[in-house]
Amino acid sequence: MIRAIRGTRDILPPETALWNFVEAAVRDVFRVYNFHEIRTPIIEDLDLFRRSVGEETDIVYKEMFAWEDRGRAESEKGGQWLALRPENTAGVVRAYIENRMGERGLLQKLYYIGPQFRRERPQKGRYRQFYQIGAEVIGPLAAGSESPAVDAEVLALLAALLNRVGIRDWKLELNSVGCSEDRPRYNQALRNALADTLGKMCADCQRRAVTNPLRVFDCKVPADQPIIEALPRISDYLDAGCRSHFAALRKILDAQELPYTINDRLVRGLDYYTRTAFEFTHGALGAQNAVLGGGRYDGLSEALGGPRAPGIGFAIGEDRLIMTLGQSAEAIATPPDVYVAPVGEGMDPEAAGLAEELRRHDLVVELGNESFRLKKSLETASKLGARFAVIVGENEVKSQSFALKNLGTGEQVSVARGDLPKTIQANRT
Ligand code: AMP
Repeated sequence: MIRAIRGTRDILPPETALWNFVEAAVRDVFRVYNFHEIRTPIIEDLDLFRRSVGEETDIVYKEMFAWEDRGRAESEKGGQWLALRPENTAGVVRAYIENRMGERGLLQKLYYIGPQFRRERPQKGRYRQFYQIGAEVIGPLAAGSESPAVDAEVLALLAALLNRVGIRDWKLELNSVGCSEDRPRYNQALRNALADTLGKMCADCQRRAVTNPLRVFDCKVPADQPIIEALPRISDYLDAGCRSHFAALRKILDAQELPYTINDRLVRGLDYYTRTAFEFTHGALGAQNAVLGGGRYDGLSEALGGPRAPGIGFAIGEDRLIMTLGQSAEAIATPPDVYVAPVGEGMDPEAAGLAEELRRHDLVVELGNESFRLKKSLETASKLGARFAVIVGENEVKSQSFALKNLGTGEQVSVARGDLPKTIQANRT
């Protein structure tokens, strides 16, 4: 038997109803914040992720699905290296640059919903194909893209979005990770601090300390945590610009009464983040408790060869968001309003006609096959959770009056064809 690939899974009905509910709700929130959808390709040039996410991140170093594409002309030396996108910010910024989206001088407020791919060790809440709902606000400096007011709006949108889907007990953790000016000073301080203790740390940390010491904070090895806890704090290394940006953001959040806690160990997993970094967590998720993360990436466009275009974005793990909902899919899925049961020979065309008519009245109709066994048809209708069954037999067709059975109460009445839609609608919950 051929099975779904490790770390991937089928999302089946009725669970898909939950996914649709979430996606419809978030689209609605994006709409009132005047965000617009962007769809970028799932495959991109591998270099895009090397240059944006960073060579030294776990995502690029260990988890990328990448391959040399053989599709190029035989005459060309080697193929192009392609990758399945492990996240969507890089693709959106590439699209911003390639399509010159900043040229009108406006802020681009973009959102996406789609699959991402990382070769992680699969476990509950962690998949190799997972889904993200994300947004990016990016634009030229003159459009105000660097303003802390943009950060505040993004955080307000996120709070609205979580509240809208029914997640109330979220926690917002906030930090400033500084910028390209103060990062080297902080990195040096980390290297100095790590110099003595490094031998006691895990192999990953030993590597990170040399290449990108900030990544040490990604370490999950328990024995390393006391050493990490004692490392210098980034808040002591921010320059005046970063400090006042962060203070201005906090002022707006306080005025809006948007609750947050400062976590100065929050550095986020990717290289391109500057200044504001944040995560929303939720207790129900245990070890994998980050529902979403994001932050500012003021230098990313330039790192990808584009114009100066500061930006801020986030990605919500849709799989985890849905786990957090704790809502049963059955409660959301809509069962059919009515099961149309053709009973007796030659009744299929009659039943099909009636089903079409009821559907035009926006009723959810399941159409049975011609059968001589009424009992069997009613059993199927009940299994499907239909509220009503309408029986289409020879007598009914002649009189144009149909037996309508309420499958909840067992009550059966005869209803004129023209009255069927409103009788069924009246009993909709
Ligand atoms: P990141 O792009 O690493 O900042 O991740 C953003 C969000 O995506 C996280 O907070 C998770 O909710 C989700 N996420 C990341 N990796 C996975 C994964 N392998 N499986 C499921 N969700 C994930």
